[in-house]
Amino acid sequence: MMGPSHALSGATAWLAGTWALDHFAGYEQSPLAVAVGTLVCAGGALLPDLDLSGKVTRNQGGATVARTFGVFSLFVAEVIEKVSLGIYTATRLSRDPRRTNGHRTFTHTLPFAALIGWGTTWLGGHYGKWAMLGIVFFMAGLALRGLFDKWAERAGWVIVTVCSAVIAWFTAANLPGDRGYPMLGFAVAVGCVVHLFGDMITSAGVPILWPVPTGRRLWRMVGVPNGMAIRVGGKVETIVLRTAFVVISLLAIAGIFAPGLLQKFELDTFS
Ligand SMILES: [Zn+2]
Repeated sequence: MMGPSHALSGATAWLAGTWALDHFAGYEQSPLAVAVGTLVCAGGALLPDLDLSGKVTRNQGGATVARTFGVFSLFVAEVIEKVSLGIYTATRLSRDPRRTNGHRTFTHTLPFAALIGWGTTWLGGHYGKWAMLGIVFFMAGLALRGLFDKWAERAGWVIVTVCSAVIAWFTAANLPGDRGYPMLGFAVAVGCVVHLFGDMITSAGVPILWPVPTGRRLWRMVGVPNGMAIRVGGKVETIVLRTAFVVISLLAIAGIFAPGLLQKFELDTFS
């Protein structure tokens, strides 16, 4: 999947989950909490691809996400790719092929999603508002880059950075911390997992079983069979999938904030 589809799938998953929690468990959230969770989950759904490095010295290449904060995030991507490659090389078994690039390895595993989710929550618990400010700033940047890719491309990374800072400041000033912090960590982790599913249906797969060894391989790439895989950037992805994500998101938003609206259009089987 391309960056924008990943981001959109993260936002959709969070909105649908929020609706389900509200509807079945009576867990209500303020509009701001829903908006921030959605943004952070959309950003989280781009996070694993921060392992796709480009050319830092020439300020080129890298995934959508790696260009969010210009050459700074490109540098971070370079470091993450090399660390991931190190983890791969250190833990690979005899049947795992040699690699020279760390893309789609450690950041594409469930332990990574859990680690990053736990780390986010831990930061929020220990550093409170300051951690919240930094995390929301970073994740909002990724989300804006992914969800509004055409705008972000035109506006450039400086504008994206300024917008992220405003969102972070507004969130830190208005979102109460009590259950906001654990929620942020959860949103990041959910986003990462949603990303893995996205890669599993569109590409050669991800090492979803890691670190469970199978047949002298620790890094078995798991994905749908080639014949069923959706072509990256093809019509199914850019039209069918994205339209479905938008429709589900809109239904979820209506279900959360205006259940009466759905009933009016006799869509109340959903609400
Ligand atoms: Zn990926």
